[in-house]
Amino acid sequence: MNYENLSDSSVFEVLTPKSKGYDDARAVYNAMIDKRPAAIAICQSETDVVKAVNFARENDIEIAIRGGGHNGAGLALVDDGLVIDLSKMKGIAIDVAAKTAQIQSGCLLKEVDAATHEHGLALPSGIIGSTGIGGLTLGGGMGYLSRKGGLTIDNLLECKVVLASGELVTANKDSHPDLFWALRGGGGNFGVVTSFKFKLLSIKNVYAGPMFWPIEKAKEAMRFYDTLTKNSSNDLYGFFAFLMVPPAAPFPEHLWNQKVCGVVWNYTGPIEEAEKIFKPIREFGPPILDFVGEIPMPALNSMFDGLYPPGLQWYWRGHYFKELTDEAIDINIEFGNEIPNFHTTSHLYPIDGAVHDVSNRDTAWANRDARWAQVIVGVAPEPEGAEEITNWCKNFYNALTPHAMGGAYVNFMMEEGDAKVKASYKGNYERLSSIKSKYDPDNFFHINQNIRPK
Ligand SMILES: Cc1cc2nc3c(=O)[nH]c(=O)nc-3n(C[C@H](O)[C@H](O)[C@H](O)COP(=O)(O)OP(=O)(O)OC[C@H]3O[C@@H](n4cnc5c(N)ncnc54)[C@H](O)[C@@H]3O)c2cc1C
Repeated sequence: MNYENLSDSSVFEVLTPKSKGYDDARAVYNAMIDKRPAAIAICQSETDVVKAVNFARENDIEIAIRGGGHNGAGLALVDDGLVIDLSKMKGIAIDVAAKTAQIQSGCLLKEVDAATHEHGLALPSGIIGSTGIGGLTLGGGMGYLSRKGGLTIDNLLECKVVLASGELVTANKDSHPDLFWALRGGGGNFGVVTSFKFKLLSIKNVYAGPMFWPIEKAKEAMRFYDTLTKNSSNDLYGFFAFLMVPPAAPFPEHLWNQKVCGVVWNYTGPIEEAEKIFKPIREFGPPILDFVGEIPMPALNSMFDGLYPPGLQWYWRGHYFKELTDEAIDINIEFGNEIPNFHTTSHLYPIDGAVHDVSNRDTAWANRDARWAQVIVGVAPEPEGAEEITNWCKNFYNALTPHAMGGAYVNFMMEEGDAKVKASYKGNYERLSSIKSKYDPDNFFHINQNIRPK
């Protein structure tokens, strides 16, 4: 295939295996992924995306879409096909009065955070700054502001999308409403989104940070956390974690490499109320580490970026939970005690509060009856550790399966097959499949957690 025909301008770059920069462009966040695309189209504009889509369709080439490259399963790449790389499309325009942001799909969360924070605004998104806005949003998007402002998709007003036909359309509640519904959770199945328009929350500083307890206290801590958050306002968020304390500052040396449990809190209510809200929390335990205090929102959203640079080995799996049963808690503690290194962890992300203000039918995202999305994250610095973290993750996941709701957050899935995708979309799968038939009948966009056309 002559990929030189694809680019007719000096700014729209197309890299092939012989090009300088090809290996950097095919590297994704998870170093376990080693795919070799035939070409990578580094798009700079909607026009470039349209050209790339048309070129691939007309020449019957498989495509993958790359935003931030964070997908655990490496779905930003395709062997021998064409990657539509959006990473250079980084425009952000904030309308401060309207509290909205137009964001191009190559932006990373930390770039969005920096731009919105300048105006005292914030978008509910994820907990690591190097994640791409594209993949995170289209899968749902959960993080420190989920209880306050819902999922990222609950703040989505509009998308510009290049369809499989090469047509560029705007999807919102009035224009292509069925497509807009499907894009809110349906992943990269329906087209290449070139930009997103979001509404923003007025949030500047928060009272937030991690708090740890000894792992021996984990059962009591999980029960305490469960009851507390059930009865708290949406201003209080905290995800529960099992981890090994990293052997580095700012953690105190006596805790290095100790297995602990903890919560990373985020309180978004009036700052003068924060000490009062945290008084009973601080009385529990007491905590062996308490880094909770007032910080700017972007500092919270990037707090763990240093621990998770690109290029580590990743294997992860996800579950949903409505309740934390005694059995589920015991399994968490068992595998929490077996965490192999200080990168590996397990998080229970709250998806109640404002996430529950929207119904399962209102968007494609079908798991609003759950209270938590769990992610079990095996991470190793070197390939030699890959087997150990994969086994730990799979065993933990399998042990929890009988206690979970079925399905998983599509953004926390590896390539786990059609049945898992269907279970994740539950009652919305049929409608998604019909919309897929309308917008992408040939399943052109299939390097993703795939929804099949009817
Ligand atoms: C360290 C880390 C932390 C994370 N934390 C969170 C978190 O806090 N909350 C959360 O919800 N998720 C989180 N995730 C999961 C994350 O949402 C997914 O990995 C997501 O796929 C990342 O998006 P991306 O653009 O970086 O991915 P990419 O790998 O670039 O893309 C993944 C897939 O998304 C689709 N896609 C991406 N951009 C577009 C687009 N513009 N148009 C159409 N399809 C597109 C494509 O199908 C593509 O295959 C995290 C992941 C990692 C690795």
